[in-house]
Amino acid sequence: MQALAERLDVAFGSRTLVSFDLKQFSSLKTVEPNPLGLRGRRLDRVGRRGKYLLFEFGDTRLVVHLSQGGRIDLESPAKATKPKGSVARLVFEPNDGLLIKEYGTERKAAVWILAQDEEGPLEKLGPEPFSQEFEKLVMSSDDRRRIHTLLRDQRFVAGIGRGFSDDVLHDARLSPFDSLASLGDARRRQLVASIRSVLDEATTRERDRTGGLPAKMGDRFLIHNRHGAPCPRCGDPLHRISYESHEVTYCATCQTGGRVLADRRMSRLLK
Ligand SMILES: [Zn+2]
Repeated sequence: MQALAERLDVAFGSRTLVSFDLKQFSSLKTVEPNPLGLRGRRLDRVGRRGKYLLFEFGDTRLVVHLSQGGRIDLESPAKATKPKGSVARLVFEPNDGLLIKEYGTERKAAVWILAQDEEGPLEKLGPEPFSQEFEKLVMSSDDRRRIHTLLRDQRFVAGIGRGFSDDVLHDARLSPFDSLASLGDARRRQLVASIRSVLDEATTRERDRTGGLPAKMGDRFLIHNRHGAPCPRCGDPLHRISYESHEVTYCATCQTGGRVLADRRMSRLLK
């Protein structure tokens, strides 16, 4: 998301918005301010907070959450079509388009328009992974939830998500079932370092990549969704734990001392 925000900032920063065309009314989560009020205003910059893209138009912010299936297409010149899954199109002068669209049906892309001092969906977000505040939290918290759950909780830390959680735990050689409360200082420090290096590397890969925005999910991760493939560190096959809505991928050799963790789906089949 960081790399995407940077690209959009380069493409559209300091340009004036010609039109905001909402294609899917249910995607707009705010009533006031009216999005039509953004027309004719200059986009100061495109930033990011957690997994949200922030388009800053002076004191008004347009916030976009792409969710799982969301994509952004850049159009030069801007089109007037309405492709399947279209959410909204922004057109900047002289005539370049930014089309927000989605492929998923379950998790929808969403848009907010926030007046000055309004935080909307950003209000509940935890600290950014690169902040001092986050480091202090990891070093001091006695949270007993599994770290995998914790890292996906946007109120604990903003913008990591399940795919990066798998990669982070693998990098830090932690079991998906470990909790923060069970870790000493050295392993907590390792966890912070792994979070930062995994996110750094992913941002670098995204910056170097060309083509559609953003990358297909599968290409972004080293471990996540790659069960059965060889572990990039030790070469043993990666394992997974299946849940209703997602799965956790890990290397038993590197992360759990060789122990294979209970897979609920497997145990159900064996009953
Ligand atoms: Zn391994």
